[in-house]
Amino acid sequence: MADSIHLRTCPLCEAMCGLELQVTDGRVGTIRADRDDVWSKGHLCPKGTTIGHLHHDPDRLRVPMVREGDEWREVTWDEAFRRCEELIAQVRAQHGPAAMTTYIGNPVAHNFALGRGVGPFIGMAGFPTIYSAGTVDQWPKNVAAALMYGNMWSIPTIDLKRARHVVIMGGNPQASQGSLMACADVVGHLDRIRAEGGRVTVIDPRRTGTADHADEWIPIVPGTDALLLFAMVQVLFAEGLVDLGAVDGKVAGVDEVRRLAEPFTPEAVAATCQVPADTIRRLARDLAAAAPGALYGRIGLCNQEFGTLASWLVDVVNVLTGGFDSPGGMMWATPVVWTTASLPDPSFPNGYEFGRWRSRVRAIPEVLGQVPVSCLAEEIDTPGEGQIKLLITVAGNPVLSTPNAGRLDAALPQLDALICVDNWRNETTRHAHVILPGLSSLEQPHFDDLLWAFATGSAGRWSDPLFAPIDGRPDEYEILLRLGALCMGLPHEDLDVDGLDDAFITALCEMKGVDPAVVLAASAGRGAERLLDLTIRTGPFGDRYGEVPEGLALADFQAAPHGIDLGPMVPRAEEVVCTPSGMIELAPPYITADVGRLRARLDRPAEGLVLVSRRHLRSNNSWMHNVKVLVKGKDRCTLLIHPDDAARCGVADGAVATVRSEAGAVDVPVEVSDEMMPGVVSLPHGWGHGLPGTQLSVANEHAGVNSNLLAPADLYDPISNNAAVNGIPVEVAPA
Ligand code: SF4
Repeated sequence: MADSIHLRTCPLCEAMCGLELQVTDGRVGTIRADRDDVWSKGHLCPKGTTIGHLHHDPDRLRVPMVREGDEWREVTWDEAFRRCEELIAQVRAQHGPAAMTTYIGNPVAHNFALGRGVGPFIGMAGFPTIYSAGTVDQWPKNVAAALMYGNMWSIPTIDLKRARHVVIMGGNPQASQGSLMACADVVGHLDRIRAEGGRVTVIDPRRTGTADHADEWIPIVPGTDALLLFAMVQVLFAEGLVDLGAVDGKVAGVDEVRRLAEPFTPEAVAATCQVPADTIRRLARDLAAAAPGALYGRIGLCNQEFGTLASWLVDVVNVLTGGFDSPGGMMWATPVVWTTASLPDPSFPNGYEFGRWRSRVRAIPEVLGQVPVSCLAEEIDTPGEGQIKLLITVAGNPVLSTPNAGRLDAALPQLDALICVDNWRNETTRHAHVILPGLSSLEQPHFDDLLWAFATGSAGRWSDPLFAPIDGRPDEYEILLRLGALCMGLPHEDLDVDGLDDAFITALCEMKGVDPAVVLAASAGRGAERLLDLTIRTGPFGDRYGEVPEGLALADFQAAPHGIDLGPMVPRAEEVVCTPSGMIELAPPYITADVGRLRARLDRPAEGLVLVSRRHLRSNNSWMHNVKVLVKGKDRCTLLIHPDDAARCGVADGAVATVRSEAGAVDVPVEVSDEMMPGVVSLPHGWGHGLPGTQLSVANEHAGVNSNLLAPADLYDPISNNAAVNGIPVEVAPA
């Protein structure tokens, strides 16, 4: 019999499921889906049942750690921040701010205090360059949104709950549960669409778990998606199928797209994509005829050599087939809560520009303020003016999750200072001088923010903390404010954290046109919770601190344990599009200048075997491998290979193969399966545990191999700077 039952949102992925947790004797027991949750309506996946394991994990760090040589020592928070101050001050004094940077991992988007603290941290620290997981998984989407719609976070998503015809490219929501598409039970919606007479198609080099819920699986050569999409565009124009639908009159550049698409006939691209021309024609015709429907393209289209062109063309096809900004098509979410990321970026006073500076070692032009994360290692280990000497990682494990991983692992010990905000001593943080652990997700409140910007409807749900943090530990919001202040050169002694927080809130109030005095007086608390209240109350459903009597405030969500549903997606082009022309820019010159490179791809001979990445439902990048119930059973870190390729390479099911690329080699068990198309092999990402100095007792017993050891530093999409971890040429041989 449980002592108590708690309701809260699962923070582990974009589905944002409502959970019901039973707690007995201070430990989380059974976790079930909250059937009354207004958003997820009873959905959950195996990961969601394990958030108690994450909280109780004996390997999770609960106190700050300082490393001296190979020895780790638990220290007080005061001592930890003093050590950070010392390290930061030394680097500032000897090398200046140009020698300091940060790496932001993607758990930041899922964590209440981290997500809200990262903006002021970066703003205060004033790093000249930052690195993030964004250039591994989504920067092409940001570039396309910036140039087509005027804001890098105005990424449209599919109105899945009302779509009748869905084409999925490079995405596997059966495993990911949706990405840049927040929707609980994506697979259930695909099944429903088919049951109601609609159609689902999956285009992917692998017959994924999502393809098992589709009417059709169309295999495609990795990295050729932009060719197929351009051919669809060519068909739409050639057959008079273009229909701008709801955005007719609001789109510029249609004729330019028509001109660019002309050479990419289905026959011209079919052999390179290995998709028959007739199939490409049918895809275009069916999408144009669908009512309603949309094409959803995700990570496989982003982290490849033509990531920006592919991501742009997904939106082009959606605009040209009439479903854009209308129910059941591609739409923008109306998030109940805004994020600081969505505010106009002051570093682009005249609209988006790229190449404002270049990386020091490889001279790679920046895109949206970042160069490829694969540059990080060389910026650390290459001597010279501007060499990175201090790195602060925020909830990231780049040694496992970024390309050029071997060089980065070797470079991190060369830093003068590595400070990690992280809850585990993992493959990256083992090199740290100081580890500052945040609270577990159950020790802090929860209310998503960025994820609602990609949601297939509007809603919100507040979760109270389930456990009080021991000994008054700071949350990540405070940790990040303190680190930002130290990077500015402010002293740790008597640092006025509340004053910094007030100043941040005041600045946001002024940007949003509300009186800071009213806001500061209205909110009893401080920190991430006050920021959440502000972003709800000044959001589209907010009460604007009393100006809109029927509007919402945080208190309304705190009084609604199953959440508040605010309705389906609505047309928003009028308010969202903020390009200099005021139009949807269908042919941004920065992107279309890359079409010549794509045309040259048609002349490139076949490359032999290429490697693609994959994910599993029981995993989430490198996050979940220390949870025994998720990693037990069959080894999931295997090389998937088609039977014909296995025979040609001389490798057998269950045997160990060596996979070699120009960047490195790994030995991995083989899984022969016809779910791979011939010529393509697949490894999951996020593995490669078992390194000395880590404190991950479960993960280290299920180590797997690090697929990013095979990812060359110079394989990336030069238009977005996104890594190309899909389509890496490899050789496979018996180990
Ligand atoms: S689908 Fe995502 S949000 Fe839902 S339970 Fe699983 S991990 Fe949590």
